Amino acid sequence: MTSPQHHDIVVIGAGIAGSTIASELLERGQSVCIIDAASSPATACSSHAYAIAHPHVGRGAPRLLRLTRIAFLMARARWGTVWNQHGIFQPVKKDRPFDREVLANHLKSLELDQGIAQALNADEAILACGIPQAGIWIPGGASLSLADLATAQLQAHPLLTCLWNSRVVRLEKRGDTWALFNPVDVCLITASKVIIAAALETKSLAASIGVRLPLRPVRGQLSIFSVNANDPWTKKLPRTAISGDGYCLPAKMLADGSYQWIVGSSFDEGQSDLQDWTSSDDFNREQAKGLLNYAEGNSAALQKSESFVGVRCVAGDRLPIIGALTQSPGIYLATALGSRGALWSALAAKLIAAQVLEDDFALLTRLGFAADLVAALAPARFFAGALAAPSAFGALASNSKPILPSAPKAK
Ligand SMILES: Cc1cc2nc3c(=O)[nH]c(=O)nc-3n(C[C@H](O)[C@H](O)[C@H](O)COP(=O)(O)OP(=O)(O)OC[C@H]3O[C@@H](n4cnc5c(N)ncnc54)[C@H](O)[C@@H]3O)c2cc1C
Repeated sequence: MTSPQHHDIVVIGAGIAGSTIASELLERGQSVCIIDAASSPATACSSHAYAIAHPHVGRGAPRLLRLTRIAFLMARARWGTVWNQHGIFQPVKKDRPFDREVLANHLKSLELDQGIAQALNADEAILACGIPQAGIWIPGGASLSLADLATAQLQAHPLLTCLWNSRVVRLEKRGDTWALFNPVDVCLITASKVIIAAALETKSLAASIGVRLPLRPVRGQLSIFSVNANDPWTKKLPRTAISGDGYCLPAKMLADGSYQWIVGSSFDEGQSDLQDWTSSDDFNREQAKGLLNYAEGNSAALQKSESFVGVRCVAGDRLPIIGALTQSPGIYLATALGSRGALWSALAAKLIAAQVLEDDFALLTRLGFAADLVAALAPARFFAGALAAPSAFGALASNSKPILPSAPKAK
């Protein structure tokens, strides 16, 4: 029997997380082998063609706010050429009074300058983006096809090996290398460094080396509605994306004068059914009315033409899990991207590459990526006592050496 191929770096999972990390490593001159159970990239949650990208601008959760700002800048820089920039409007909650100054100060405190996010009253919002509601206008907000991105990032490259139709079910340490086994317990490949970007299946792969991760599925359905040319909805449909309770893309006029409008999405905790649900379309019709502040709109006029159903992978604390698995040198995780695959994959690519190569932390620190943020994403946050040690930030950030300065005060 021939011995399995050995690669220095193997990435498990060719969704947006794995493909973006692989692409970053290729750009940095590394040889990469990517391995996926499917026959091509982006067949699972990343088959999503309508993902929006914008920094989180809500209240509370200061680390999440800082992280999404950094990730937004990284995503925009990475995907500038396919960044479908139409802007994203975030209306203020209907039950909260709007105070422009308070909101503007909040945005400033998040280091979101006017170029990134602007607090607008309803009159100003009509002028800026045609939405007659008070809220926050993010002119650089965009939508992206995660499927196209993942596929483009895995185009033939002299340093890239793709192993399709290859499910990994367990890992085993053999000296300084890791052996990856398929369902019939054949060793498929060995590697010095393994990046696990297999969404929910990261849980069983990590369990095979004794690591328990709190991951769970959250099903989601986007509805693609069709609206007749003369329907009253057509006067309300947005020309920008809106993100609030749910989100929608700009409505698109078709050749016959009707509109296509994508609205989502349901958030079905603990569910992983990929079937289309009528109840999810009804839910999205209600979200559509909420987003446009159009309670009297006729739901039946939003005719369902298609849908996208996916299963998000979410961690207990709602942050992604990105970083070195310190108790298993050579293993790195990039999972739990939740509803922010576009942002977190861009951030994961930089952070994982920096940790795998142990060299390029200047960019991360320049972007405000401090040690407390590395710790907030690190797998070790789930393990008892992991954050107690004074040197924990350094240890969390790398498999071997401390790499980042200490944290600034949380904002
Ligand atoms: C309805 C809905 C709306 C969303 N909206 C947005 C949005 O607006 N903006 C946004 O940024 N994100 C959005 N998301 C989230 C986004 O789609 C996900 O965060 C992202 O696709 C996750 O990417 P991933 O690479 O982690 O996982 P996946 O795309 O699921 O990729 C995992 C890959 O690993 C492979 N794999 C799994 N197990 C194994 C194994 N054992 N061996 C080998 N290969 C394996 C799979 O075949 C798959 O290719 C939305 C999701 C849903 C469902």
